[in-house]
Amino acid sequence: MLIQLSFELFLMELLTSLWHEYFQQGNSALLKPNTILMKIKEAKEITGGLSNPSKMPGRAYSIPASRCNVGSKLAKVKGSVCHGCYALKGMYRFGNVQKALEKRYQSLADVRWVNSMALLISNQSKDFFRWHDSGDLKDISHLRQIVQVCKLTPNTKHWLPTREYKIVEDYIDQHGALPSNLIVRLSAHKVDFAPPSKLAKRLGVQTSSVVTSNDFTCPSSKQGNKCLECRACWNKSVDNVSYSKH
Ligand code: SF4
Repeated sequence: MLIQLSFELFLMELLTSLWHEYFQQGNSALLKPNTILMKIKEAKEITGGLSNPSKMPGRAYSIPASRCNVGSKLAKVKGSVCHGCYALKGMYRFGNVQKALEKRYQSLADVRWVNSMALLISNQSKDFFRWHDSGDLKDISHLRQIVQVCKLTPNTKHWLPTREYKIVEDYIDQHGALPSNLIVRLSAHKVDFAPPSKLAKRLGVQTSSVVTSNDFTCPSSKQGNKCLECRACWNKSVDNVSYSKH
């Protein structure tokens, strides 16, 4: 088990350094434009491509909400933030959407996923990126992969909201602090409940919560459900973002 883990980490580090050599240090200029286009097409094929939420200032990535570990349990609990989850109804239930989400989920097992995601993000969402407008962390390997993508895209701010506290805790226990361009927010499990601030503080991450009162800080509901100039979710100095329950 340990040997397999070390090999996976070694492979990731190797791919990271190769990627830096060819794409981050100016060598991409040596590639002909149609070669880059081909690589982007390939990267979309491998990962299933990025999503494009109209609300956000950048792209996102979505996997099936039905695959959420903590979230699927919470979805059955009245009063939890996942009860009535938007990603489990409406157009998310259409067969073709489900198929596309599942394809992205399965693509996590592809060794080319990290480099492909880094290429797509650096081309299509270079300033701000959101992980999982649908779905959540699968396991610690998934978080390791995301960390590698963040390291390959140091100029992009990555926001990762999650209810998988244990995965974040295990990652930090095993590997230390997360990269500075990755903003993890531990989401409160219940509506009108305090976020897990104590744990977040210990881990050096941030939080988010959902409220039914007017005591929310996310301005999107007052500005056509758009972020516009607000970037609070990507701002580490904002300890907690509270969203209005809609
Ligand atoms: S707090 Fe700001 S950045 Fe976050 S979702 Fe709301 S408007 Fe967007």
